[in-house]
Amino acid sequence: MKDVAFVALGSNLGAREVLLADALKSIAQLPDTRILAATEVEETAPLGPVLQGSFLNQMIAIETELAPRHLLKELQRIEREAGRLRRERWGPRTLDLDIVLYNTQTANDAGLSVPHPEIGNRPFWQRQITSLRECVI
Ligand code: ATP
Ligand code: MG
Ligand code: MG
Repeated sequence: MKDVAFVALGSNLGAREVLLADALKSIAQLPDTRILAATEVEETAPLGPVLQGSFLNQMIAIETELAPRHLLKELQRIEREAGRLRRERWGPRTLDLDIVLYNTQTANDAGLSVPHPEIGNRPFWQRQITSLRECVI
């Protein structure tokens, strides 16, 4: 069954605009998946303890038949292809792709929590979700 999912894109290392645009193209090419709407790209200050550059962030709404775990696997492949190295937790990254919300599905284990547990702490995600919902319903 097709479902609507919200995916957050972030980059604070390298050619940030290009990395986000390429990620969007890669997500559009996933099987049984299409992009319904995308927010503008916005700049946000880094969160957490690590000193690093600011992020470019964007959120997209996708219609997909991929189950949450399958979608995460594909998103992690796209992160790797963007040259993401996992050095320190919450450190700078070329590309971060997080599943923020699924319309009808939840997941809760070590590898995947949906809805994303940080939604409540990230006002820009809440704003982006609201504006995407206006486009997709
Ligand atoms: P945050 O998730 O707080 O934004 P982060 O994106 O920097 O932090 P990552 O290093 O990208 O964290 O991911 C750490 C782990 O989080 C991943 O290996 C993945 O298994 C797990 N994870 C759990 N829930 C989600 C989710 N909803 N979306 C993406 N990854 C998730
Ligand atoms: Mg993240
Ligand atoms: Mg992540």
